[in-house]
Amino acid sequence: MSRKNRKRVLVTGGAGFIGSHLCEALLEQGNDVLCVDNFFTGTKDNIIHLINNKHFECLRQDVNFPLYVEVDEIYNLACPASPIHYQFDPVQTTKTSVHGAINILGLAKRVKAKVFQASTSEVYGDPKVHPQKEDYLGHVNPNGIRACYDEGKRCAETLFFDYHRQHKLKIKVGRIFNTYGPRMHPNDGRVISNFVVQALLNEPITVYGDGSQTRSFCYVDDLVRSFLLLMDTPDSFTGPVNLGNPNERTILETAEKIIKLSNSKSEIVFKELPSDDPTRRRPDITLAKNTLGWEPEVDIDAGLLKTIEYFDKKLKEDYGS
Ligand code: NAD
Ligand code: UDP
Repeated sequence: MSRKNRKRVLVTGGAGFIGSHLCEALLEQGNDVLCVDNFFTGTKDNIIHLINNKHFECLRQDVNFPLYVEVDEIYNLACPASPIHYQFDPVQTTKTSVHGAINILGLAKRVKAKVFQASTSEVYGDPKVHPQKEDYLGHVNPNGIRACYDEGKRCAETLFFDYHRQHKLKIKVGRIFNTYGPRMHPNDGRVISNFVVQALLNEPITVYGDGSQTRSFCYVDDLVRSFLLLMDTPDSFTGPVNLGNPNERTILETAEKIIKLSNSKSEIVFKELPSDDPTRRRPDITLAKNTLGWEPEVDIDAGLLKTIEYFDKKLKEDYGS
């Protein structure tokens, strides 16, 4: 890419699972990438392979504090995403979503940057409408243990749309559904990372509840592709737009599949279902198909095999197991 066309792109939460794949994709497109992260759940290992790229920079900073940089585009991903991590310090989680959004929107306003918000299917809560379309307003418990994340992300959406209406900011709001792949944190408690690590160690696979609750899992490469397409839509398109894979399955089926694909000897054990755990989740991605020309391409077996390969290598490196 010529110097003239090279964009300066800020990725907050760039050292996290999704953020690190996004930084890679933006560099491959020929951009200058600034990753900002406080390393709460992200790690240097996720971005170590990018450090020697002269078009990549990393800054340790918390988005709860204002940031003064000159950029053309911003992807705001900074926020712990797994229930264990976002419930560890729930007050900080809400602050990160809300103060973080205020700081990032203020920056976008000053430098006139286009700004993407990593919103979430959690804005629909435990949905009473299935599959979820963008016009469904959700069913969220405002004072339960997931509220710090769900309500924080809902408030961030409010701020994005108010900055758009009031200050004419160019915004893109993507509602991300469950995503998996290499560089998930092995201890983040999310279902795919938990099951894969347990299966590789031949330890019991912990299914919460009876495992009949559903999720729809998107491979990270598919998701990152959707972010780039969304950022390139005309300014009149703001979203919110669902980004995820509509292929829905139960948690019990997912456990059985992971055991099979990893040739594991693990047995399934049933544990208590956490409170406010959504019963069903599947995105309606009609809007993403029509506006971005996007739909997921990686099927679950292929995506899981890549994830299993990643964790197998990581467990051997970290624990020599
Ligand atoms: P992750 O925890 O791996 O990444 C989040 C990153 O943000 C980490 O690198 C973390 O250190 C950083 N961070 C957290 N608080 C910060 C702060 N105050 N200042 C600066 N950096 C901070 O999670 P992920 O799965 O990569 O999620 C990325 C984004 O996508 C999050 O905003 C999350 O809410 C959203 N999302 C993810 C999923 C999913 O299934 N992975 C689903 C819906 C939405
Ligand atoms: N889950 C499970 N065992 C685990 C981890 C999670 O059965 O070891 C369940 C969890 O109760 C939920 C689903 O898997 O019903 C997805 O959980 P995750 O934390 O990955 O994402 P979220 O609930 O935020 O969609």
